[in-house]
Amino acid sequence: MLPSATASQAPSDQEFFSGTNAAWEARRQAATPRGVSVLESFYPARAANAEIWDIEGRRYIDFASGIAVLNTGHCHPRIIAAVTAQLARFTHTAYQVVPYASYVALAEKINRRSPGGWAKKTIFLSTGAEAVENAIKIARAATGRPGVIAFDGGFHGRTFFSMALTGKVVPYKTGFGPFPGDVFHAPFPNEIHGVGVEDGLNHIRRLFRTDIDPKRVAAFIFEPVQGEGGFYPMPEAFVRGLRTIADEHGILLIADEIQAGFARTGKLFASSHHDVPIDLMTFAKSVAAGLPLAGVVGRAEIMDEAAPGGLGGTYAGNPLAIAAAHAVLDVIDDERLEARAITLGDRLKDRLNALRAWIPVLADVRGPGSMVGAEFIDPATGEPLPAFAKQVQSLALERGLILLTCGVYGNVIRFLYPLTIPDAVFDEALGSLEEALLKA
Ligand code: PMP
Repeated sequence: MLPSATASQAPSDQEFFSGTNAAWEARRQAATPRGVSVLESFYPARAANAEIWDIEGRRYIDFASGIAVLNTGHCHPRIIAAVTAQLARFTHTAYQVVPYASYVALAEKINRRSPGGWAKKTIFLSTGAEAVENAIKIARAATGRPGVIAFDGGFHGRTFFSMALTGKVVPYKTGFGPFPGDVFHAPFPNEIHGVGVEDGLNHIRRLFRTDIDPKRVAAFIFEPVQGEGGFYPMPEAFVRGLRTIADEHGILLIADEIQAGFARTGKLFASSHHDVPIDLMTFAKSVAAGLPLAGVVGRAEIMDEAAPGGLGGTYAGNPLAIAAAHAVLDVIDDERLEARAITLGDRLKDRLNALRAWIPVLADVRGPGSMVGAEFIDPATGEPLPAFAKQVQSLALERGLILLTCGVYGNVIRFLYPLTIPDAVFDEALGSLEEALLKA
């Protein structure tokens, strides 16, 4: 008879949460491809809320949240309880074979809480890229048109169509072409890099003369606040202008809220900061606190244009991830995380702005709520300073603070702490950040 393992004796407990970081790092480099580049060289043993402890016992404050996934923190007890309860019932039926009520109820909540008072429907998928792919499929089915216009610096994923939409070549597209056709890029309206709202809109009008007949365009896809591209909010006047152009030509607007959604910007969805109607919206990441869940929500009549069997996926809307998402929404409401995003973001922005007198290369501090970016530019030459951002990142890490960079030029630090972070931990992190900035 096989010996029965108790939880504490499980081989994985012994094996995967002990040893040295250096030994695992050597094994990683031998066993996994370099294409999956990895930022840190420590291996976690456990994590709680905004903190991670590695297998050697060192503690880190996590201002990355697994790339914007943990707005509700690591291992929130209510989310763990919800997933554990689901685990005891069933882990998988395939929604397309045997549907489950929790999927339907979550769709109802997303339909109700996403911006716009019209009838909506929601489909669940597993990854952000998959949500983007499905939004494009639905837009094409609804319009009968092939074209999609995305924006420079935008990031939409690593699958073929989402990669084609992504507006940054290195490292996302290098070596992977050719890409699907009928994808065009317009400049993202960004005053700091010389593109005003009117310039941006004129560029699109020009694209209709130089590259694609607007009657062949199914959709515009944009991030309300660009994530990987540099934490640039899209100006409301530009979204409004885009809506006008879209309406003129029968084009749909798709907002990619995968990084900005779920209270990060101070509202459940970033598109709720303005009242410009959005036809389809993608979400993922913080919707399920680390369980793989993504989705598309949109106008009911558009969502229904894809024919039966055209949408779905074996794991799409996995019951464990759906259970997590219900708990995430409860935590956002009960812990008032939308308001907390604004409070924390204001504290961070005030602290950074106060440092600008001492750090002239800190050219811009921006972003709604807690979707905050700090951009480094040489004031004499106007050159973006990616090396400075990297230096801040590594000095912060020496102090146990995990930071991420972003931006087309890599010269932006983005702040993605859990919105549940306790005040004391947040203050400690701001102290480390200040030290890193002053020393860089
Ligand atoms: N869209 C946006 C705005 C994103 O930030 C990301 C991920 N960084 C994606 C799409 C792709 O999501 P995933 O990695 O889950 O496929």
